[in-house]
Amino acid sequence: MKAIQFIALGQPLQLAEVAKPTAYPGSLVFKVKACGICGSDLHAVDVPGLLQAGSVLGHEYAGEVVEIGPGVQGWALGDRLTAVPARPCGECPECSTGRFGECTQIIAQGFDARMPGAYAEYSTCMAGLAVKVSDQLTDQQAAVIEPLAVGFNACRSAKLDAGASVLVLGAGVIGLAVAKWAKFFGAGDVGISEMVPARIARAQAADADLVIDARQHADPVREFERQTGRKPMVIFECIGRPMIANLIAMAPTGAHLVLVGTGMQPENFTVLSAAMKRLHMTFPFAYVPSDFHFVQRMLTTGRVSVDGLVTDTVTLEDTPAMFERLGKPNDLGKVLITP
Ligand SMILES: [Zn+2]
Ligand SMILES: [Zn+2]
Repeated sequence: MKAIQFIALGQPLQLAEVAKPTAYPGSLVFKVKACGICGSDLHAVDVPGLLQAGSVLGHEYAGEVVEIGPGVQGWALGDRLTAVPARPCGECPECSTGRFGECTQIIAQGFDARMPGAYAEYSTCMAGLAVKVSDQLTDQQAAVIEPLAVGFNACRSAKLDAGASVLVLGAGVIGLAVAKWAKFFGAGDVGISEMVPARIARAQAADADLVIDARQHADPVREFERQTGRKPMVIFECIGRPMIANLIAMAPTGAHLVLVGTGMQPENFTVLSAAMKRLHMTFPFAYVPSDFHFVQRMLTTGRVSVDGLVTDTVTLEDTPAMFERLGKPNDLGKVLITP
């Protein structure tokens, strides 16, 4: 089958012919219908020592079951799925009490050669972490459940108060997802700050209350306050580049900083600078398996929407070029690979 492989730092991804995966105990093999290219993928190829040569990225997917592993029940060939992209060890104390997300031996699909991702014609997932996709959702919508779950978990981690004043930095897919869930959780004013024109337009189309053009307003906190009459007390960083020092400098006293961007480069800040302002910081990570069911239900009942998140689709053949394009400044939203 065709798959897109990581070769080495600084080299483009490559289309390759590899063996089709086979099912192992507890797993499903699926035909990939759509797989998102994620900011984490773009970061990962630049981190020395993270990816092994031959790794296949791809952890935001929807597919159709083509093979069922030993011991799996409740799944049939042809079922549509998305899944939490991971393989817990199944044996540690966390796994044996069902807290798979806390497994210390967990394999992150797409970032570990032991569990190739879905930049490919076929991939695998654990049946216990897979979710049957509703007939009401397309494959492309189902592939966005994962990033929506990231946004959902970020808002839940922030413990937003009713009417909260929320500023989201960055109108990429995660920023838009966080803004949607912030409204869902009952935030009062939700502002998004962004500098790329096409993303500004998408933020306006999403239901943000105010969209701050970061090219004109270097201090989005001040502009938020000017427009709403109050300071943003919860600030979500959804950019993924080192910026904690800037965040601390701009944050109002007592604010809660929520670092959603999951940057992989070192930060440089002093604890004292944050302490002087009595800041809180939260580092949310991923989601728990039940979030996928919840997100799907909120999508099918119309409580949240994926409108405007996906801007492009590409074939596997065109994926290396698209990956290069996404690694540079660009105005794209979620790009899905449709093998
Ligand atoms: Zn992702
Ligand atoms: Zn475990």
